Amino acid sequence: MCLMAHPDDCEILAGGTLALLSKKGWKTHVVTMTPGDCGSVDLGPQEIATIRRKEGAAGAKILGAQYHCLESRDLYVTYDEATLRRALSLTRQIAPTLVITHSLVDYMIDHEQAAMIARGVTFGYAIPNACPGPIARGSRIPYLYYADPIEGMDVYGDPVVPTTYVDITGSMATKRRALKAHASQRRWLMKHHGMDQYIQSMQEWSAMRGGTVGVRYAEGFRQHRGHPYPCDCILEKQLGKLITLGDK
Ligand SMILES: [Zn+2]
Repeated sequence: MCLMAHPDDCEILAGGTLALLSKKGWKTHVVTMTPGDCGSVDLGPQEIATIRRKEGAAGAKILGAQYHCLESRDLYVTYDEATLRRALSLTRQIAPTLVITHSLVDYMIDHEQAAMIARGVTFGYAIPNACPGPIARGSRIPYLYYADPIEGMDVYGDPVVPTTYVDITGSMATKRRALKAHASQRRWLMKHHGMDQYIQSMQEWSAMRGGTVGVRYAEGFRQHRGHPYPCDCILEKQLGKLITLGDK
């Protein structure tokens, strides 16, 4: 399960890894906190949200994933009881083995709150009294990974160093196609910057992470290794040679 703030975040920050896992037979889920209702200067929130839910579903499908939206609103993603209850209930249904979310420090608070929510639900979803509803057999605290913050920096401008790099050279074409499904955002940036900034900046970032570990394109993650999360690297177990550990 990849749980992030806005439609397109999962594609940009973890799309290559999700495509690799789907290809290996994993059942993958893209979850966004919002339907991207602030992602337009011309359309009202409901109009653009309708478009972006469809784009979110199309992008996820290209990655081999199922799309879900938790229906918070852009700029208002909040670690509160109502939001946690929605996220817990969906996490119960999915019963994930592995969760990828944003960095706990990122350029935008929606991203940081989404990361907190992912941390909260991974800890709590298998606790019987946490919320109503059945708990699937085998539900337990999943592996948790935080994706790179945007441009790899924390809010002080200091670099964030991944624990885990995934070589996504082989799934880059799929990642690119999935991001192109977010046509409303791509068009907006093309109009604004006069160039295909959307796809280009994703590729440049993936190439930069790749350069660090000697491959063409990579995605970086930091694994949550604190108590009581599993701290062996499931990505390494699943993807073998495509993984470089940053601190070993
Ligand atoms: Zn975002």
